[in-house]
Amino acid sequence: MSTSSHLRLLILGAGPTGLGAAYRLKELGHTNFTVYERAPHVGGLAASFTDPHGFTWDIGGHVLFSHYPYYDRLFDTLMRGEFTLNNRESWVRILDRWVPYPFQNNIRYLPRDAALDCILGLIRAQSASGGPARAIADAANFAQLNRALFGEGIDRLFMRPYNFKVWAHPPEMLSKAWIGERVAVIDMERALRNLVLERDDFGWGPNNQFRFPHRGTGDFYNRFVPILHDHLRLGVGITAIDPDARTVALSDGSTDRFDLLLSTMPIDRLCRDVLPDAPAEVRDAATGLRHSSGHMVGIGLRLPCPSTRSWMYFPEDNCPFYRVTYLSNYSPHMTPDRHTHYSLLCETSHSEFKPEDPASIVDRTVAGLIAAGLLTPDDTRHIVSRWHYFADYSYPTPTVDRDDRLAAALPWLESRGIASRGRFGLWKYEVSNTDHAVMQGVEWANRVLLDQPEETIGVRYEVADHGRGKATVYRPAAAGSGQPRTPMPEPKPPATLPAR
Ligand SMILES: Cc1cc2nc3c(=O)[nH]c(=O)nc-3n(C[C@H](O)[C@H](O)[C@H](O)COP(=O)(O)OP(=O)(O)OC[C@H]3O[C@@H](n4cnc5c(N)ncnc54)[C@H](O)[C@@H]3O)c2cc1C
Repeated sequence: MSTSSHLRLLILGAGPTGLGAAYRLKELGHTNFTVYERAPHVGGLAASFTDPHGFTWDIGGHVLFSHYPYYDRLFDTLMRGEFTLNNRESWVRILDRWVPYPFQNNIRYLPRDAALDCILGLIRAQSASGGPARAIADAANFAQLNRALFGEGIDRLFMRPYNFKVWAHPPEMLSKAWIGERVAVIDMERALRNLVLERDDFGWGPNNQFRFPHRGTGDFYNRFVPILHDHLRLGVGITAIDPDARTVALSDGSTDRFDLLLSTMPIDRLCRDVLPDAPAEVRDAATGLRHSSGHMVGIGLRLPCPSTRSWMYFPEDNCPFYRVTYLSNYSPHMTPDRHTHYSLLCETSHSEFKPEDPASIVDRTVAGLIAAGLLTPDDTRHIVSRWHYFADYSYPTPTVDRDDRLAAALPWLESRGIASRGRFGLWKYEVSNTDHAVMQGVEWANRVLLDQPEETIGVRYEVADHGRGKATVYRPAAAGSGQPRTPMPEPKPPATLPAR
């Protein structure tokens, strides 16, 4: 193999992972690389779209809580101050009322019988024989974990129905490993004190602010284009990879070669469609991974915004969506006129366990907005935009067998010079936010050029006795989102940059 300065590197996909990798390669002075993106634009699932009525939409509400100094610096450099700083203000709609998030700290907002049910369940869960730690350790899946942590009342009212709406899979199918210890911090005394003393306990405030690019999440990713221009091939997909010859076939009929390839497409499609000669056990492992799809429905209104809220959760079945975002509250540039217009972005999941009819989803969303108390029937006369986007791959489902499947598929790819990274390349929901995605790309570039270990992916490769690759998949320190946490360490600067 050639030295790192001569390596021919290919990147499949110009979403956050691919762009992060490409930016870092260029920053380190490497020039021998190309990014192939089958869409005519960059950004992947983090792209933004402006509709003919002048509303800008994201593919689901994107909130950025980065804890990587490198990512923050990159954001500052590219955005040049053209972003807003927003307070997080999230709510749960339940039993015809609004409960501030986190739900378990604000059950005093519930009707008295429901509040009693929740607090009794919490007390029983905390006093389970062997203690809650034992029940949590014994939980075989996400459903059992929730009951052990929150008790029957909160689980029945909120956790179970809400999680089914988000994941579109029964919570018994989900593992508990991707959560880690973070949710185990249920403070029963705090919940009880808030209930008895009628105290508010909101999860937002000055420590919970997030930055949002002026023209949508995709505004940030569009700013990579002029920097990477010479290396970007938009509208050109990789249709096949020959891992022995280290060549790729492209959708325009041409070919290219590589020493190493970063793939950010879904790993199941990579192993099934693009690597037709992958061993059966690798293909079976990858294609057994599960995901949900998502209908994103944007409702634009010619009315002043009636609320300061950021986003809201909807566990009940009087509406199809699990989450609605007041997207126009994130930036004044998301509607044709911030004084006279506002926008609601509504997300509904879809899977074989929870099929959603695409033809009626927009109408059902509007009906749900009325049922959930966000719109009045009269408001609907002021709807000027109805935007609909179907994301075939929306959430990578952390099933109980996910890590075993990844451990079976990733080493073979690595042995062929292919690193599969990103939201669906790695399939690890816990490290699949935009900051994680960008940093997965950056860390891959650091590994290739600087021989630095990848910290975010939570995968350790070993060579097994029989000479074939082996991997251990674990929950990395960077996992999770939406909560303040210890900053991730800065990638180490190279002792000396590779010569080129
Ligand atoms: C509903 C929803 C809500 C989200 N909310 C948040 C949030 O609040 N905060 C946050 O930080 N993140 C959020 N995210 C996650 C964020 O969008 C992802 O982290 C990010 O987009 C993943 O980047 P990626 O590059 O790994 O993958 P993608 O964005 O999926 O990019 C992969 C790219 O590869 C391209 N591609 C696929 N196949 C080929 C091929 N054969 N040849 C060439 N190109 C190909 C695709 O066109 C795509 O552009 C959310 C995502 C969704 C769907």
